[in-house]
Amino acid sequence: MHEDHAEAVRDVSGEPRPHQNAEHDHDHGSELSEVELRVRALETVLVAKGLVDPAALDAIVETYETKVGPRNGAQVVAHAWSDPAFKARLLEDGAKAIRELGYGGRGGEHIAVVENTAGIHNLVVCTLCSCYPWPVLGLPPVWYKSAPYRSRAVIDPRGVIAEFGVHLPEDTEIRVWDSTSEMRYLVLPMRPAGTEGWSEERLAALVTRDCMIGTGLPLWPDAAQ
Ligand code: FE
Repeated sequence: MHEDHAEAVRDVSGEPRPHQNAEHDHDHGSELSEVELRVRALETVLVAKGLVDPAALDAIVETYETKVGPRNGAQVVAHAWSDPAFKARLLEDGAKAIRELGYGGRGGEHIAVVENTAGIHNLVVCTLCSCYPWPVLGLPPVWYKSAPYRSRAVIDPRGVIAEFGVHLPEDTEIRVWDSTSEMRYLVLPMRPAGTEGWSEERLAALVTRDCMIGTGLPLWPDAAQ
């Protein structure tokens, strides 16, 4: 469930497409899912007709695979931990504050940032497909798009995060946020104790992708030394 690789499946606009459940059995002699096959066929036709430029598609995919990723989100989190005024702006209007750091664009038009506290833990899912805040987290991991995660995150969030190794006190409220293409979510995790006086760069190294989805917690300061 924790396998993590960004796939270059896309629709004609370059958007990564939701995948079928990995458990789905294929009976058509291909490693590709039906959606992937459909996307590939569409892409072939559009390229053949000269309607899309394959180099442009490659550039878009390459951007999300290599240039945009969770390091962006980690910088946002580290900045929020270091600068209370920025944190206030971030919680007020996530997308707008994130743009201050230069991150925006596709999939980042509307981002709400939800803050973890001692009493509240936030978990993000897209029950419908795979909506995800691309400019700050890059492409979603495979498990995020999987049917079991999408359904179980809502039904049994505590059980799901436990499978990721996150065990919270019974009285911690878990809030589940269902992303859409209209509103995507980024979790602002709690700043680990023992990081007083740390630079933003050091802090950012503690911020994992999963802790910004809610399926993880930041690394302990010791782990980052
Ligand atoms: Fe979605």
